[in-house]
Amino acid sequence: MIPKRAEVGSLLYEWNGTKEIQVEVGIRKGLPGFQILGCASVSTKEAKDRIRLALEASGYQFPLETIIINLKPAHVPKRMVSLDLAMAAGILLATDQIPSPTYPIRYLGGLGLDGRILGGQELLPYLWQTPESSDQSFLLPSSLEKESLPKGRYQFLNHLEDLKNLSKDPPSTREVVYPSKTSPVWDVVYLDPYQMKVFQGLLYSLLGSHHSLLLGSPGSGKTMLHRMLASLLPPKEFRDHEDQGIWTSGGEFEVPSTKRPFRSPHHSATEVGLVGGGLPFQPGEISKAYGGILYLDEALEFKDRILECLRMPMEDSFLEIVRMNEKTKLKTEFTLMLSANPCPCGNYHGAETCHCSLQKIRLYLQKISGAFLDRITIFQTLFETNNERCIKLDELKMRKIILERYEFRKTRIIPKDEENKIQKILDIDPQTKQLSLRKKKQIISLSRTVADWNLSSRTKEVHIWEAVQYCIGYQWIYSLG
Ligand SMILES: [Zn+2]
Repeated sequence: MIPKRAEVGSLLYEWNGTKEIQVEVGIRKGLPGFQILGCASVSTKEAKDRIRLALEASGYQFPLETIIINLKPAHVPKRMVSLDLAMAAGILLATDQIPSPTYPIRYLGGLGLDGRILGGQELLPYLWQTPESSDQSFLLPSSLEKESLPKGRYQFLNHLEDLKNLSKDPPSTREVVYPSKTSPVWDVVYLDPYQMKVFQGLLYSLLGSHHSLLLGSPGSGKTMLHRMLASLLPPKEFRDHEDQGIWTSGGEFEVPSTKRPFRSPHHSATEVGLVGGGLPFQPGEISKAYGGILYLDEALEFKDRILECLRMPMEDSFLEIVRMNEKTKLKTEFTLMLSANPCPCGNYHGAETCHCSLQKIRLYLQKISGAFLDRITIFQTLFETNNERCIKLDELKMRKIILERYEFRKTRIIPKDEENKIQKILDIDPQTKQLSLRKKKQIISLSRTVADWNLSSRTKEVHIWEAVQYCIGYQWIYSLG
C-alpha cells in the first residue's frame, strides 16, 4: 500500500533571518497516530491536537490513520515557527480534501481550535528578512493584509475552510506600501531671533548632513530645537530589498519605512548599546540612526569611550567592530548632533551666576576639544536671552520648505571650479587663512549647503561668510579666559 504524501513550503525564523523549510506529510494505513519529526520544539509538537480540532471544525476529515510529518531540513531546530497552517494544508493535500495549487505557495500562520488562521505582527520579520524569490507566493492570516509588507505575492485567509477556494492563478505582485504620517507633531512654535539663528544652523546641518554641536544654558531650548528636527526629516528613498527592518532594544520588530530615524540615546547608554554587539549581534544606536540623525543630548555626560567610538563613523561612514577575533565593517551614515551645557553648573553666560573656575570649565570641555571638534562642522552657542519669542514656525510649512531644498540639492549642477574659487578666498582672508585644510573643506561644503538652502545654483560670497561663522564658532572654546 503506497502511503499518501504531500509536501508544502513554509518559513522558520532564526535571529539572523529566515530559512526555507519543507513540511512533508505522509499518511499510511495503520493505527491512528500523529508524529512530528525533524527537530521540532515542544510547542511545534503541541500543534497535533490543535490541527485535529481545527480541521474538524472547518468541515474536513481528520484521517484516522498513521500521520507522519517530517520537517526538513531535519537538523535545524524549529524554535520560532508558525507551522500549524502548513501542516494542516499538507494533511488536506495528502488526503485530496483540497485541490493542489498550480503554483508554489509558502504557508505561514497558526490555527485556532475553531479553524481560524492566526498570526499577526510576530510574522513580519519572517517576511521582511527572507531572501527575495519572486515566484513564491505566500498564504498568510488575513490580519496581515493591512500591514506594511515587502514586495511579493500574497493571499490572505481568514479560515481553514477558505483553502478549498484558492484561486487557480497566482496572486499578482503587491508593491510595498509604507505608512505615511502627515499630521504635525509640534505644529506651531514661537522662537526668539537668537533661537531662530541657531535653528537655522541646525537646518543646514540636517540638509547637508553636517555634524553639529550646540553649547547652551539649561532651559534655553537646546533640546527642543533638536527634537523639532525629528519630524522635519524628508522621507527616505527606499532601496528595494536592502532595508529589512530592525529589532528594537525592547525586542520589537520595526518594519522598514520611509521615515528617517531620529535617535536620541540617553547619556547612560553603554558602548554596546551605542555601537552594537552581543551574541547574537544586536544593532546599536549608530546603526539605527542610519540615514537620519543621531542626537546626543547632554553630550558631555556620555562616557569618554563612547564619544571616542563615534570619531571613525563621523568621518569615514563605517565602523569596525571586533567580535570573537573577527573584524566586521558596519556601514554607517548619520548626522551627529550634540548639545551640552557650557560649564559644569550650566550657568556660564546664563541668567544665574556661574561659580565655575575657568580651569574647571576647560577641564569640562576637554572631552569635545581637539580631534573631536575637528570633525564638527557647525558649532553654536545658545545662552538665555530676554528677547521676545516673535518668530512663528509652522511645522507643515517647514516640511515643505525642506523637501523643496532636498529636491533642489539632488538636481542642481555645481559650477566647475567653484570649489577652487572658494578655497582661494579662504586662503587669503585673515579670518580663515590659518585654518586647517579639514576646516576649509568643511566651510566649502557648508557654503554649498547654504547656497542650496537659498535655492542658488551658484555659491555666493554671502553664503561663504555665513558658513564661515558657523564653522569657526568652535574658537569660542579656546577663547575662554
Ligand atoms: Zn558654571
